[in-house]
Amino acid sequence: MTYDFSGKTAVVTGASRGLGAAIAQTLADDGARVIMLARSEKALNDIAANMPNNPVVIPADFAKPDSAETAAKDILAISEDIDILVNNAGVGVVEDMNNLTQDGLDFTFNVNVRNLILLTGQLTPALMKARGNIVNISSVSSFSGGLGQVAYAASKGAINSFTRNASIDLGRSGVRVNAVAPGVIDDGMWKTAFESGVDRETTMKKMRRLLPLEGRWGSAQNVADAVAWLASDKAGYVTGQVIRVDGGMIV
Ligand code: NAP
Repeated sequence: MTYDFSGKTAVVTGASRGLGAAIAQTLADDGARVIMLARSEKALNDIAANMPNNPVVIPADFAKPDSAETAAKDILAISEDIDILVNNAGVGVVEDMNNLTQDGLDFTFNVNVRNLILLTGQLTPALMKARGNIVNISSVSSFSGGLGQVAYAASKGAINSFTRNASIDLGRSGVRVNAVAPGVIDDGMWKTAFESGVDRETTMKKMRRLLPLEGRWGSAQNVADAVAWLASDKAGYVTGQVIRVDGGMIV
C-alpha cells in the first residue's frame, strides 16, 4: 500500500480499460471503494471482479447530453460523500482543419468537456461534504497539439482551464482540483491504435526522439501513480495544477 485511502469513496470515469482501469485498481489497492463508470458494463464487471473493497459498476455514455445528471444520481445513491473524483473518460477523433465535422466536435466535447464539467458540478456538494479532491485527465496535446487533433487538443485545453477555475471556486471549501497530462502511454488509446493496424515499432521509434527520459514511453501505472499522489493527503497543498507525466516530452 502506497497511500491510505481506507474508508474513502473514489469515482473513476472511463474505468473499463487503459489508464482508467489502472487508476481504479491503484486507488482500490490503496484501500478506496471505487465507483467505476464507462459504456462497457461487461468490461467494468470483469475488472471489478478482481478488485478489493466492494467496487461498484455504473454504465454511462457521456456522449449523450443528459448523461452526467443520470450518472450523478446513480453515484449519489451509492454514496453521499465523494472523497476522490477522477475524470478520466476521454475520446480522440482524428479530423484535420479541412475536414472538421459537427458530429466529431460534438462527440469530443460532450465526452471530454461538457459532461466532465456537468458531472463534477453535480458531485460538488458530495465532494465538499467530504473535503474531497478532483483529478482531471488532460493530455500533452493540450500544449503541443498534433496533426488531426484540433478538437482533441482544444478539449484538453478546456480541461486545463476548467481545472484552474474549479480550484479557485472550490478552494475555500477545502476541495483541491488538479489535472494530470499524460504524454505517450503504451496502453489505452495507443494500445487500441496498435491493435487496429498502426505500426507499433515505427511509431514508438519516431516518438522516442521526443522523450528525453531514456526515450521511454510511459505506462498506465505511471499515470495512475501520479493520480494517486494528487488524490492523497501527501499533495494536500497542491491545487489548480496540471502535472505533466510525459518523460519530459518535448512539445
Ligand atoms: P481508452 O483506452 O480509449 O479508454 C477510454 C476510456 O473512456 C474507456 O474506459 C472508455 O470506456 C471510456 N469512454 C470512452 N467514451 C466514453 C463515453 N462515451 N462514455 C463513457 N465512457 C467513455 O483511452 P486511454 O488512453 O486509457 O485514455 C484515458 C484518458 O487518458 C483519456 O482522457 C485520454 O484523453 C487520456 N490520455 C491518454 C494518453 C495515452 O497515451 N493513452 C495520452 C494522453 C492523455 P467505454 O468504451 O467502455 O465507454
